[in-house]
Amino acid sequence: MAENFDVVVIGSGPGGYSAAIRCAQKGAAVALIEKSHIGGTCLNCGCIPSKSLLASAHVLLSAKHASLMGIDIPSASPNWLKIQQRKDAIVAGFRKGLAGLVRANKIKIFNGTGTATAPGQITVRTDAGQTHLAAKNIILATGSKPIEIPAFSFDGNTIISSKEALELDSIPQSMLIVGGGVIGCELACVYSAVGTKVTIVEALDRLLPNEDKWVGQLLEREFKKAGIDVLTSWQVTSVDTSAGPAKVSIGDSQAIEAEKVLVSVGRKAICDSETINALGLKTKNSVIVVNDKLQTNVAGVYAIGDAVGTTYLAHGAFAEAEVAAENAIGGNAKIADYSLIPRAVYTFPEVASVGKNQQQCENEGIDVEVGRAFFKANGRSVGHNETVGEIRVIREKAGDKILGVTMVGAAVTELAVAARALIGSSEKITEVSFPHPTVSEVLKEAWEDAFGISLHTPPKA
Ligand code: FAD
Repeated sequence: MAENFDVVVIGSGPGGYSAAIRCAQKGAAVALIEKSHIGGTCLNCGCIPSKSLLASAHVLLSAKHASLMGIDIPSASPNWLKIQQRKDAIVAGFRKGLAGLVRANKIKIFNGTGTATAPGQITVRTDAGQTHLAAKNIILATGSKPIEIPAFSFDGNTIISSKEALELDSIPQSMLIVGGGVIGCELACVYSAVGTKVTIVEALDRLLPNEDKWVGQLLEREFKKAGIDVLTSWQVTSVDTSAGPAKVSIGDSQAIEAEKVLVSVGRKAICDSETINALGLKTKNSVIVVNDKLQTNVAGVYAIGDAVGTTYLAHGAFAEAEVAAENAIGGNAKIADYSLIPRAVYTFPEVASVGKNQQQCENEGIDVEVGRAFFKANGRSVGHNETVGEIRVIREKAGDKILGVTMVGAAVTELAVAARALIGSSEKITEVSFPHPTVSEVLKEAWEDAFGISLHTPPKA
């Protein structure tokens, strides 16, 4: 006999748990199925642990550079065990809190592997046996896994994914990172700060290839200053782990030895083939196909988050969860403009962007004016000795509309939502009061510069 629910959510990452809570808040009877730890990739092996390690790395670098601020710290060194313990405690704390929150919303949690066996029918499998659930609506939020390179697949010890890289039990002497995207660059900052010799090999011509060229170039310049070797337009062709450190061949001519090889070349949606076949779900390039209401081709079945391959971001999954939850309980919501979901990279310096970048505008033939402002001219940033980077604001000349903002600098990820809100606001920038002195004033200057009215930029010739 199946237990009945209004909505069954498979997967408890940011997409799944937030969809479950939203449905429950609106009075639905909800079940949430999770085969591993509650919180998904984000909480257990993604956003939260990586930001904990980055925070420790940041404190270490600040301590090492403290004399520049007039503070003498005789020596600062990483205690890796404590850094890891702190990270684990943060993750464990949030797991406990999230499980409590889900239960407080009267959502029934099933620990096991969920498979949809027919529309409205779900089986939860555990080592102890099977439980059958029935639901008016199903939300698939099964997430993603790291992409593996067949020529040198993960061995969990020397050739590792981000998951293992977050939980190494000692600081490696050297690490070669295959892929200069978001995760590779963030982990490069962690390990370089604690003393690992880091080399990044990126096949394209720059780091963070999805951002404008200047972003990757600026980051590469700062990484090189920090001692990180960056090889762009190169590909790793093979990795030999037969003895001692791995021997990594790059192109036809180069070889580098590394204790760890972190392969970080993107993530791949997890689509459970049993569910796909049982429901007849449409997939494309291994992601579940959905429309702008997050509906799959099967009535009453929604899919969200990394499983649909749209943003590969936790807050992208949150945004999709809102829409799917609304629709699963009888609403009629649609996902808004995906480009307005901010992108944040927590490197040293940080990178954040929202809307279109300059390259996209050029590709689309849009005539733009680019406003620029620099952290070295900002009082708070100079006081903090964090003067690297700039903000660029892209204005469509024809309509005087701001199309996008790209930022590189300390803590710019905290400015991403301000940029997003300003794009959506009808107020003029001169009507918005920015507290002084704050780093956010750089955003105001760049925004004004896009209209040729920056107060603190000399008139252009
Ligand atoms: P997930 O979080 O992957 O959750 C899916 C869950 O479903 C998992 O718990 C899985 O066990 C469960 N599951 C799968 N199949 C089944 C099944 N059949 N039955 C039961 N349970 C199942 N994003 C950001 O926005 N900001 C960041 O700073 C950031 N940093 C990251 C750092 C790293 C190192 C990594 C790897 C990722 C990072 N991300 C970041 C990406 C972010 O973690 C993901 O985009 C986000 O977790 C996707 O959420 P989701 O709910 O779609 O899936």
